[in-house]
Amino acid sequence: MLGGTGEARSLADRLVTNGVPVISSLVGAVRSPALPGGEVRIGGFGGVDGLVAFLRDRGVSRVVDATHPFAEQMTANAAAACSQTGTPLLRLSRPGWEGRADASDWHWVADLGDAKRVASELGGRVFLSVGRGSLADFTDWDDRYVLVRVIDEPPVTVPASWEVVRGRGPFDIAAETDLMRSREIDVLVTKNSGGRQTAAKLDAASALGVAVVMVGRPSDPEGVETVGSVDAALAWALGG
Ligand code: NAP
Repeated sequence: MLGGTGEARSLADRLVTNGVPVISSLVGAVRSPALPGGEVRIGGFGGVDGLVAFLRDRGVSRVVDATHPFAEQMTANAAAACSQTGTPLLRLSRPGWEGRADASDWHWVADLGDAKRVASELGGRVFLSVGRGSLADFTDWDDRYVLVRVIDEPPVTVPASWEVVRGRGPFDIAAETDLMRSREIDVLVTKNSGGRQTAAKLDAASALGVAVVMVGRPSDPEGVETVGSVDAALAWALGG
């Protein structure tokens, strides 16, 4: 199980309950991650070759790539390593937010570079909700107010004009509305991560009339079976 998401955790727990031995892999980005049942290993594999060696050493018979929809490198590495070893691979990727009623009001962009450009044009005070690994792309925004929320401290030095708050989802709409209203946020910059854990910021933005800049997902790897729910992934992993 390539993890780092709530879905990965939930699937690992359910497989363990079904008597299936599971090794979950986390990158180690947060200091005290929520851990699934079964075996857990932490840290990168060392690219495709490292993952190939791991799959062989541990006699892995199936791989579920349940990493975050934006974990593009890990997803590509999983596809390459499983193709080399002939290991069946499933991508579990929760549906994005494009089906929401307010999605047509958002400024959709292809990547973080475009997000930065569009948000700059919009101006004003920004809630930057793109994940700690992407903050470095924005640190030259040192002349505007930027709110970021992180679980552990940011991995980069942030400009003096930024405010860093600590928090771990799920977040509710009342708290998100309070946060954005109290900081007089004009623009929310975020990724089309999907799921319910972090969706309240979108409800709050909609209620407050905050502009939303939404980064579209990277494309799925070619030729890899993909499902959108833990139930479907469970059926696959159990051999259904
Ligand atoms: P990434 O850019 O696709 O991956 C970079 C490298 O990190 C990979 O090449 C791999 O190193 C290592 N890695 C990533 N996920 C791993 C895993 N589950 N187990 C072991 N090594 C892993 O990934 P990312 O966007 O930095 O995301 C890292 C992790 O955080 C993922 O597991 C993802 O589910 C989670 N996450 C990401 C986001 C996001 O917005 N990107 C948000 C929430 C959670 P090696 O090449 O050395 O194997």
